[in-house]
Amino acid sequence: MLRYHIWTVGCQMNRADSAKLAGGLSRLGWEETERPGDADLVVLNTCAVRAGAEERTFGKLGVLRRLKQQRPELRIALMGCMVGRRHDDLVRRFPFVDVFAQPQHFDDVLAALGVDPADLGGEFWPETVGRQEGPTAFVPVVEGCDKFCTYCIVPYRRGRERSRPVEEILHEVAGHVRFGVREVTLLGQTVEAYGHDLPVRADLGDLMRALHDIPGLDRVRFLTSYPRDMTPRIIEAVAELPKVCECFSLPVQAGDDRVLERMRRGYTLAEFRQRLDQVRRAMPEVGITTDVIVGFCGETDEEFRGTLRLLEEARFDKVHVAAYSPRPGTIAARKMEDDVLDAVKHERLLRVEALQERIAAEINAALRGQVRDVLVEGSKDGRWFGRTRTGKLVHFTGPARVGETVPVRIDETTAWSLRGAAMVGAAV
Ligand code: SF4
Repeated sequence: MLRYHIWTVGCQMNRADSAKLAGGLSRLGWEETERPGDADLVVLNTCAVRAGAEERTFGKLGVLRRLKQQRPELRIALMGCMVGRRHDDLVRRFPFVDVFAQPQHFDDVLAALGVDPADLGGEFWPETVGRQEGPTAFVPVVEGCDKFCTYCIVPYRRGRERSRPVEEILHEVAGHVRFGVREVTLLGQTVEAYGHDLPVRADLGDLMRALHDIPGLDRVRFLTSYPRDMTPRIIEAVAELPKVCECFSLPVQAGDDRVLERMRRGYTLAEFRQRLDQVRRAMPEVGITTDVIVGFCGETDEEFRGTLRLLEEARFDKVHVAAYSPRPGTIAARKMEDDVLDAVKHERLLRVEALQERIAAEINAALRGQVRDVLVEGSKDGRWFGRTRTGKLVHFTGPARVGETVPVRIDETTAWSLRGAAMVGAAV
């Protein structure tokens, strides 16, 4: 039997793409292997959003170059956001790679294996359910991005926004549920953009309502949110539907209007605050995470202090912070000066992390003694783990079973996670 190995770096969208490719290869009779050395096909599913992710891919390619010298029959595919429409430079640098496939161009990978996609029929990929191990699955619902934030490479690599038809998503989610999945996370670079390009208009709220009827599906999550696309109708659907978790990933990126303008984020700080208020008014116990970039082109001390003030005021549950690094091909890399010193970026990053650690520790400490429903995802070191509806990671003592939702009393908390014990005999 032929074997494949897929290595993935980057965001949840990449993980979903890898799961889909794995599902397709399995349908073709291939078997997954943990070790690239045992594989007939190795796929690197790459990310170009940060320099660090690219460096990790280059490291992997170094290893694969040697493997290919030993076993010339090994097929190697480089897929994902590192592969642009034009990728002659990659072809020149890595001549031992058999195929370069843009994100979700699964057919290109199959072609490298001698499979003619035309022989599979047009419904092969829409009908393929991504391979999942546990009770949770990522489901892309809108692909690409139309926003063109100045620092971001995604629109150039993943193309314009394209929504998948509702029926196709229902089919995929129902398939996941048949394989034991209890929670799906609907994915989009800007997930609230879902539906605007469909022939029969539907929005994310309509999609959530349709998914809600699938028996056996317990939870629906969604990310990543984009303030301008988030309508009161969508917020209402999240608040109303019991299976939809009150949990938002809402990147602000900066706490100063001048920086937001240079980033071309498309909203002001006042508009962002307004969205936050609308969400919290509709769901007082909501969990909200955000993303922040420090040291963007021209960011002054005062502009950076605006970010600290916003974080202090908004009290997010979690903040993903990154120091700005220019990505070749983006508007910022072409037209703006990366003029904040690395040492300053690093210091700002540490200040955000320290502030957020305090805030998250305070928010989590308030949960001590309370009971939260946790969907059990697995066990490690003698404890079960899973997430609350608001997305908080909980480690706890049993009894429990993977895939069930159990009420857990929270006993200990840190900034990063919660610990507790299942309430015996009180499964949800
Ligand atoms: S919204 Fe902006 S940051 Fe997000 S994927 Fe689109 S261009 Fe990139």
